[in-house]
This record gives sequence, C-alpha cells and structure tokens, in this order.
Amino acid sequence: MKQIVTAILIFVFVISLISFSFTFTQVTNEEKRLENDIQHRSSILSNSLKESVEPNFINKSDIYLQSVVERFADNKRFAGLAVVDNKGTIVAVSSSLPKEISNAQKIAADVMDGDKESGDFVDFENKKMYVFASPLHDDKSVVGSLIIVQNAGYINTRLIDIWKNNLIRLSIQIFIIVVAVLLVTRWLIFKPIRNLAESLKSTRAGSNDTNKFLANSILFQPLTKEISNIQKSLLEARIAVSEEARVSLEKLDSPWTAERLKQFTKDILKDRTIVVVSNREPYIHTKNGNKIDYYFPASGMVTAIEPVMQATGGTWIAHGSGDADRLVVDKNDTIQVPPNNPKYTLKRVWLTEEEEKGYYYGFSNEALYPLCLMAHIRPIFSQENYEQYKKVNEKFAQTILSEIKHLKKPIVFVQDFHFALLPRMIKNARPDATVGLFWHIPWVSAESFSICPQKKEILDGMLGADLIGFHTQLHCNNFTETVGRELESLIDFEQFTVTRNEHISLIKPFPVGIAFSNNTEQVPVIAEETVEHKKLLKNLGIDTKYIGIGVDRLDYTKGILERIKGIELFFTKYPSFVGEFTFIQIAPPSKSKIKKYQEYAQAVEKEADRVNSLFKIKNWKPILLIKKLHTHDELNQYYKIADLCLVTSLHDGMNLVAKEFVAARNDEKGVLILSQFTGVSKEFKDSLIVNPYSGEQTSDAIYTALKMGSAEQVKRMKKLRTSVRNHNIYRWSAEYLKTMVSLG
Ligand code: UDP
Repeated sequence: MKQIVTAILIFVFVISLISFSFTFTQVTNEEKRLENDIQHRSSILSNSLKESVEPNFINKSDIYLQSVVERFADNKRFAGLAVVDNKGTIVAVSSSLPKEISNAQKIAADVMDGDKESGDFVDFENKKMYVFASPLHDDKSVVGSLIIVQNAGYINTRLIDIWKNNLIRLSIQIFIIVVAVLLVTRWLIFKPIRNLAESLKSTRAGSNDTNKFLANSILFQPLTKEISNIQKSLLEARIAVSEEARVSLEKLDSPWTAERLKQFTKDILKDRTIVVVSNREPYIHTKNGNKIDYYFPASGMVTAIEPVMQATGGTWIAHGSGDADRLVVDKNDTIQVPPNNPKYTLKRVWLTEEEEKGYYYGFSNEALYPLCLMAHIRPIFSQENYEQYKKVNEKFAQTILSEIKHLKKPIVFVQDFHFALLPRMIKNARPDATVGLFWHIPWVSAESFSICPQKKEILDGMLGADLIGFHTQLHCNNFTETVGRELESLIDFEQFTVTRNEHISLIKPFPVGIAFSNNTEQVPVIAEETVEHKKLLKNLGIDTKYIGIGVDRLDYTKGILERIKGIELFFTKYPSFVGEFTFIQIAPPSKSKIKKYQEYAQAVEKEADRVNSLFKIKNWKPILLIKKLHTHDELNQYYKIADLCLVTSLHDGMNLVAKEFVAARNDEKGVLILSQFTGVSKEFKDSLIVNPYSGEQTSDAIYTALKMGSAEQVKRMKKLRTSVRNHNIYRWSAEYLKTMVSLG
C-alpha cells in the first residue's frame, strides 16, 4: 500500500508540474497579448484624439481642451485623459482621474524628451492602470503631451481566471485518475492477490478446498494455474506423508516430522483433547506506541512445546504477562495462535501483582529454581511465598477444570516447576483425566532436596500426575529416591513407578528435543548466505578470523561468568589468538525483577569489560556482549557464522541452545563445547565436554575447537545432527503422549 501511495504521489507531482508549466506559458502569452492590445488601442485612440487636441493646444484653448478630455473620458475602460505642456504642467485633465498623477506626468515627460509615444502600467490608488502618452507638436517642436489612462485591472483578473480554471481542471483530473488507479489496483491486483494468498494459506493449513479462493483475473491466469498445480502436488505429497506416517506409527525410532506427529496424535488420542499448562506463554503481546506487537520468549520450555501444539492443536493455558495481552483476547481470555497462522488456542490466566510476586518471583524462582539447579545460589524459602504459589496453582486448576468440564478423559499436560501442586488438584477433581507433568529443570539428590520446608506437599502434588517426565535417567533416579525418603509410598524400582494412596505415577526420562526434521546431509554455504554473514559481522564491527558464540538468558545457572574466565585464560595461554578470535555472547535479560538476577547481569557486564580491557587492541576486543532478545531466525545467523559454540551451564535440565547450534549447521562445520552438567551432554558425546567450573578446561577446549581440522569437525557434527534429528521434539511428544495414553 505504501508503494502505491508513493507512486500516486509521484504521479500527482509530475502531472501538477506539467500542468503548472503549461498554465504558466498560457498566462505569459495571454498577458503579452492583452498588454499589446491595450497599447495598440491606446495608440489608435491617441492618434485620433491628437487631431482635435493639437490645434486647440497651440491656440491655447484650455476650455475646449477640458471639454475634449471630459467627453472622451466618459468611457468604461477609460480612467481618464490629460494634456500637459512641455514643462509637464497639466493643461486639462478629466475629473475621473485622481488629483495626484505624477506617475503619468513622468511618463509624459519621458515621451516628450524622446519625442516618441510610449506607455506603461502604473498603480493609481491601488488600481492597475495603463498610461499612454503621445507628444503634441507645433510644427516640428514638441509642445506638450496627450496622456491617456486606461483601466488595466481586467488583465490581472483574466490571468487569475486562467490559473483558477486550470487548477480546478487539474484537481478534477487528479481526483478522477487517483480514484480510477485505486479501483483498478483493488479489482485487478489486490483482490486477486489476496485470493491467491488465502488460497496458499489454506493449502498450507491443510485444507483441500482451496479453489474457491483462486482468482479469476485474466491478468493472473498464468500464475493462478501454476499455483493451482503446486497446491495439487502439495496435497498429494501430504496425503502420501500421512499414509507413510500411518504405516510407520509404531516405529518410534524412524524420523519424526510435524505431519507424522499430527497423524500419530489423531490416531492415538482419537477424540481426546490435549490441554497444556505452563507459566510462560508462547506469544507475549506488548504495546509499542499505538501498535501492538508480540514476541516469542527466550525459554527452552516454550521452544520445545510450541511446535508440538502447532502439530496437534488443542489449548495452551498460561499466564498472560504481556502489557497488551488483555487487549487482544476474546471474552473467554483466549486468542488463536500463532498470530499469523493460527493452529491452536492460547488461553491466558491473569495474576495480580501480589500473586506474581509470591508465586513466580518468590517460591518458583527464589526457592524451587535454585534448589533444583545447583548453581550454589542459596534458595530462599518463605511460607508467605509458598501460600501464593499454592493459590496460583489453585487458580490455574480452576481454569483447567472449567476448560475440560465437558471433555471426556481429557489429557492435561503440565509444564515445569511452577505447577508442582497442580497434578494432584486436577486428579482429585477429575480422576478420569490423564495428567502428565514434565519437569524441565534437573532434580537434585534426595539429600539436597531435603532442605525444602514444603518438600512433602511438593512431592505429593507432583505425584497426582500419572506420568512424571524428566530429561535424564539421573533426574528420575534422584526423584524416586527423594520420594522414598520423604513420603510414604510404594516404589517399584524396576518399573520406575510410585504408588501412593492407590494411585500410580510412572517416572520416566524423556530427553527433550527441538523441531528439527530436515535431512542431515551436508549443504554447502551458498553465495547469498556468505553475503548475509559478512553483513552481520560488518554490522557488529567484527573482522576476526575466528568467531565464538554463546546464547543464554542472563541467568546465574548458565555459567557466563565462568565462561568469561575461561576466555581470559584462553588468551593468556594462547596469545597468538589475540586479535584473531571474537566471542559473541547473546544474553537477553531474564527475571530482571529479582535482585539476584540484576546483580548477575551487572557482574557479567563488569567481567566482560574487565577481560576486554586486558586484551583490547585497536578496534578489536575479545568479548562482544549483546544483552538483547533475538528471534530464532536471528540466532540462526549467529550460529552459522561461529566456529564454535560455548554452552557452559553450571547445571541445566537439557539446554536447547546446544541443539539449535547443531541444527543450524547444515554445512556440518563448527564445534560445540558443552558443560558436563547439561542434560544434553548425555546425548552429545561428539561435542567437547568440559567442567564449566574449570577455566583451564574451557580455555583448552576453545583452543582444540579452533585448531580442529575440517574433516574432524564434519565427522563430529554429522553425528550430532543425526542425534538432533532422531530425537527431535516430534518424537519426544509422540513418546510422551503414547506413554500417557497407555496409562489411562
Ligand atoms: N532464546 C531466544 N532468544 C534469545 C536467547 C535465547 O529465543 O535471545 C531461546 C533459545 O533459542 C532457546 C531458549 O531460548 O530456544 C533457551 O533454551 P535453553 O533450553 O537453552 O535454556 P532455558 O532458557 O530454557 O533455561
């Protein structure tokens, strides 16, 4: 639309310019013509008058002269006549002329000097007049001058009329042309394109009935035909994939795709509906001036669950935390998402400031998070915060219960440590519901967990679930041991089940993946990509041979401070890399209302500055810290330009950044350096595994990565990519859902 408006404006400008120049020429010509005309008429008149004036002037018949001027002056266009002698003194003047006619006298004086008739335009009392003077002779000598004054105002009026008429004509023409252009664009271009877009969208959404949208426009006929053929091929391919998916449903280990998961879910769930619950929502709407924007938060949980919801549909219930969230929901607090291509329902739950403070910032993030992620940050347990945590779990439980009120045997899939009490609440109210809980962070040893004052309630709440999933077997072991130590229950260590009050919970590892189902073959970097990469580096002001990347929320569990220390040691031990290697750390702010997080963000900045000041030379510094949230597409560009990726969390449930780095490397290059305390390190044996607390190990791993030959990089990356593809998020959810369905 902007381009069309710009084109119309340019068109209007050009038309106006042409019309103005034509009008200008017309006006100039007309002005010249009218001036010549008045001059000509004045000359003829003066010649005829002179015949009667000259003899009387010589005879000094002033009375007669006065009567001549009065008689001739009685004409509409005439403003008056006057006769002056050769000294410029007025001899006779018509009464219609103003008293002060010195302008005319001056013209007469010039005429007498040159003995040649002449005229000019002058202002008399703000009126435009034409003064024509002709010399009077006695024999050959000039004795005076006849002055004829004519109204010339009509010349300006005529010229203004021309401007006015031409402008009106131009405006009407522009209006008609603009309206015509808009109508033609709308009917011939916009409407058919909108129809084509609708048609493509509905094909993408899987509809078979796309022809109704196809444009009839002759202009687009060849395009429409091609698109129609593509749609047909796509539908055929889809049917083929569904068929294939149906055939291979039982083979969990073959590659999983969104399409296969969709088919699988349809087959195993039949008419059962999935409701997912999490604290963080997948789309957060925010105000941006008069506009409303949305963004995808930096969260491993959201990265994992979103593609599943896109494939399976259903409802996702989450806390509405964006400042524009309320403005975009319907009366049931729901919105269809993804906003640009809706596939499932997001239902928002509103929390008061007090609830958010106690439940989210308080018990979830100051107690459970540091308790489960042993990063040596002391958990803060407050009964007051716990009460809010319980209250918010109840609030979500009520929302879920009303959502599943009319559903038979619903499946409720609860995410993460924010809702430890929720499974029990749901199960008590709806025993027919199958409740799954996935704990996205680690579970510590029974000994470590025992310090939690609310441990029994937390464990009992979790055991309301039929299935409790963790990323690794170690976390499952730790959990069952914790239950054995804290609660009265029957534990089957072979089946990994906990029976409490006659309800059985299965505890099982499900290492989470990402939405990666592409083939794992090497794809050469294409020229366009190289240009993009160069542009990105130029924008960042980086011009070094080697690049490293780190992508983490600003969270103390991510080991960013330890990583920077490792980089410092690397440059100290291997000074030849000074000026040759730049490490980019992307670190969007996280939970910044919590003091510990504010302090951590400051400490990271300070540490990066310190190391930068130690090694900085000219335009180069070792660490580029970017404290901004990036989209997945933007992150992919960074992953692709890096020679190595550092994931050195002090403790992490899984860590999806590691998997994203591998997925982005379709050139099969790049080295992943991974903390041994991440869940993903159990799968990624082909990365360089380090103890993040050891700066020595990190620095040596950076050196090994930068010195690693291309063949070795490819060998390792190939295996990592196969692992990411074979254990992608579609397979993860298929396994999780299959297990849940088998339980109830
Ligand atoms: N992420 C993002 N934008 C950023 C930084 C991170 O979208 O600027 C995403 C990242 O791509 C990943 C997730 O946040 O999908 C982080 O997941 P991870 O499991 O690594 O850690 P978590 O933050 O869940 O502890």
